[in-house]
Parts: sequence; structure tokens; C-alpha cells
Amino acid sequence: MTNQILIINFEEIYLKGKNQNIFIKQLVRNLKRKLKLYAEYLQFEKSHGGSYFIEIIKEVPFDILNEIVYKIKNTPGITGFYIADVSGITMSEIIDTAIKHVSKYQNDFNSFAVVPKRINKSVNYSSLDIGIEVGSAISKTFDKQVDLTSPDFKLYIKVRGKYAIIYSKIIPGIGGLPVGTSGKAIAMLSGGIDSPVSTFMAMNRGLHITAAHFHSVPKTSPQSIEKVKALVKKLTDFQGEIKLYLIPVLKIQQVIAQQTDSRLRLILLRRIMLKIGERIAADQKAKTLITGDSLGQVASQTLENMRATEDGVKLPVLRPLIALDKKFIIAKARQIGTYDISILPHDDACSMFTPKSPETKADLKYTNEQYARLDEQQLIEDALQEMETLIIS
Ligand code: ATP
Ligand code: MG
Repeated sequence: MTNQILIINFEEIYLKGKNQNIFIKQLVRNLKRKLKLYAEYLQFEKSHGGSYFIEIIKEVPFDILNEIVYKIKNTPGITGFYIADVSGITMSEIIDTAIKHVSKYQNDFNSFAVVPKRINKSVNYSSLDIGIEVGSAISKTFDKQVDLTSPDFKLYIKVRGKYAIIYSKIIPGIGGLPVGTSGKAIAMLSGGIDSPVSTFMAMNRGLHITAAHFHSVPKTSPQSIEKVKALVKKLTDFQGEIKLYLIPVLKIQQVIAQQTDSRLRLILLRRIMLKIGERIAADQKAKTLITGDSLGQVASQTLENMRATEDGVKLPVLRPLIALDKKFIIAKARQIGTYDISILPHDDACSMFTPKSPETKADLKYTNEQYARLDEQQLIEDALQEMETLIIS
């Protein structure tokens, strides 16, 4: 026993009324999976109102604690968490534990405030008493000033049931919804900046992601596949294990180049990619496809082109970045750690066959006429035959 607990907050889930149990169960399942390496230190407890408790049952070495904190911090559905010291509910036990807690941070602050909350009303002291008694003990022990208006350090004390919890540092989480609570999706993942961000945003709204990457090896270098693997690896920080499908499209590109109007090449290729995505979705029981398109970001991402690209695709194509500026997308990419991988040089499966003047306002009827020249079924079956599957964890 260490008398420490990790207390996890999930405000948005807590607001979900009757469904909250489903959300909490999924969150706990996700956390258990992500933290399974550290099982010897942690005992999963249960939820208390808007929080979930994980007891720390064995002293955790500092570097391992950092790893645990990193994993929890990056779990969708968690708004914040903290490591609390637990004490009995007599005033002297609370004071002793508060002093032990503060001793860990004593070099970090000069002024402080105690923020008391007494949930258990059966004790013979008030919230105010906790503030006064603990405040003066800390002031004396560490020679610090009480400052109730703008303290450097806040010490929270909650007396609930048979114990009191004492904490100070709240670590922010990424919020959102637990992975899996919104169903499954296939994320179309290139090696660029945008699609890793759109994939992250989909995960952070509760979608469980399977990634699909289309490549033109041997025309493009094998390093571009390594890059996509590194991006997926980074995205496992949030979801845990991710399945990655690698689909060769060189033959499809060659056929498109031979048989169709060069201005429509990219649109036709993207449509086949979405159709292959749909086949993977059927296999994975996924209900949607995710892309990194952003309206008007490049000449090809116009409303007309997006419409022509997705024509005939039955699943909804979600585009989480549709209304975001590039600046915002880059900031997000940096924040989630995919940016530095995305900017490594790579050859894009599509750029090698990009025409000099690609269509920017595709006509749907004409696009469909061009698409009809292709033996769609055969092209898709051949690509699926050669598809590779990787599990990245
Ligand atoms: P990104 O930065 O994600 O590469 P982009 O700005 O380069 O996007 P496009 O090349 O027009 O834009 O691609 C639009 C979307 O199509 C991508 O965000 C991605 O979802 C999907 N896509 C493009 N190329 C591939 C590929 N080789 N494999 C999988 N998906 C792809
Ligand atoms: Mg790209």
C-alpha cells in the first residue's frame, strides 16, 4: 500500500446521463489495455461521481510514473487527473498527510492556499477549520505565506466517507470521448501533415481507427512506408494498438494514366481509394471513412472535386479538417507529435502521376464517364489481393 491514488476526471462523459456507464466502462477498458505493462503497480477501482480511481499499490519508480502519466494524459475521454495522497479523516491525520504531500513540492512555491471541501458531514470540523488548521501547519513547517487571492500553489483537501484525499497538481488530459464509443472508422492515411491530424481528431471523438495507406512501391521508395508506420506508431499513443493496411496502387495508377483524361487522374484514383476503403470497412465492421481534406487548401480540394471523388461511395466520408486553416492543422500536428514525422521527405503515391494542370472543378457527369472506362471491380480485387496487414503497437 502506498496510500496514493490516481484520480481521473471525465466531465464530458459524466454529462452523458444514462449512457455514462457505457462510456466509463469503455474508458476503463481502454486504460487497462494501455496500462497493462504496469499492472503490478495499479489496481483499478471504480468511479465516484465524475471521477475514476486507480489505486497505486506499489511504489512506482520515477521514470515509470512518467510513462504512466504520459499514457493517461493521452487517453481520449479524460479531461484531467491527479495523484492524491490518502489519509484518515481525523484532523491530525489530515495535517500529517498534507505536510507529507507538500514536502514534495516545497521548492516550487512561496505562497499557497488550502482549498478544503468536506463531503462527509459527520465529522466534527468544518471546511473552514480544515483551511485554518492545515494552512497554519504548512505555513509553520515550510515557512510559506498564505495567499487566498493569487497563490503560487493550491492544496486541495476533500473529506469524503472514511478518508480524505489531498492533492495539488492537476494534469490536463486531451478530453473528447473514449475510443470505441462512437464505433469504428477507416482512416485514409498518407504521409502528409493533414491526415494524421484528421485521424487523431476522429479518435478523440470516440472512433476506433483502422488505418489504410496506398503506396506505389517500387516506383516510390520503401522509406515512405516506414514513415507511415512511424506516424501510426505515434497515433497508438492515443488509441493503443492500430491495424494498418498497406495497399499497392501502382497498377491502378498505370491503368488510369492509360485509359482516362489526365486532368481527372487524381480524382479517379482517390475514388478507387475510397472504394477500397469501403471494402476494408465492411471487413472491419467500420461505418465511416476519414480523410484529411480541408476545403480549398489545395486546388484539388474544392467542393466539386470532393463531390466527384466520393460519388458512388456509400459510406459517409468524414473530413474532420474541412473548415480548419493550415496554421491550426500544423499547430495540432505539433501538439500530437506527428508534425516532425510528416515533414520528413517522402514521395507521395499520387504526386508521381499528377498531371501539369489537374482539374479543380470536376464535372460529375464527365468524371463518371471517365470512371466507367476503368474495370473497377478487377482493379479493386487485384489491389486487395496484394494488400498487406500490419499491427502496430
Ligand atoms: P495529407 O497532408 O493528409 O497528405 P494533402 O493536403 O496532401 O493531405 P491530398 O493529397 O489532396 O491532400 O489528400 C487528401 C486526403 O486523401 C488525405 O488527407 C488522405 O486522407 C487521403 N490520401 C491521399 N493520399 C493517400 C494515400 N497515399 N494513402 C491514403 N490516403 C491518402
Ligand atoms: Mg498528401
